[in-house]
Amino acid sequence: MDPRISKLVDIMKTLPGVEEPMDADSNLWHHYRLVRCKCCKKDFPAEEFNIINTGYVKAYDQACKECRKSAKDTCPIVCVRCKAVMLRLEPYKDEDGFEFIRNRAYHVDACPDCEKELGSAMVVEKKIFIKEKYK
Ligand SMILES: [Zn+2]
Ligand SMILES: [Zn+2]
Repeated sequence: MDPRISKLVDIMKTLPGVEEPMDADSNLWHHYRLVRCKCCKKDFPAEEFNIINTGYVKAYDQACKECRKSAKDTCPIVCVRCKAVMLRLEPYKDEDGFEFIRNRAYHVDACPDCEKELGSAMVVEKKIFIKEKYK
């Protein structure tokens, strides 16, 4: 090996390990104090976003003002672990007779963001409903 190269290799070995790169969201926040809307994927200042109080948790709403407007009358589904709105559902009644009522928040114990292996999450309110129904 060229001695210059072996010298270089020695220097490189003494360098501290490279830090894990930040993910896109943290990067955005770190440099621009912007938050990416989960719905339209556009970036907005943090003040544009809401905290919603479900009565059980205070959850960070990751939808921007515009998206919240167009999602008016839907049901925010809040991940209790992330303390964030993970999705919104149109109000409806499912085959079990459980009803998602407009503008009411529902909770899940975990979501695909915090639980990678998660298959499907049933909302806590529905779990209780099923328990009551079949007891
Ligand atoms: Zn948006
Ligand atoms: Zn979660």
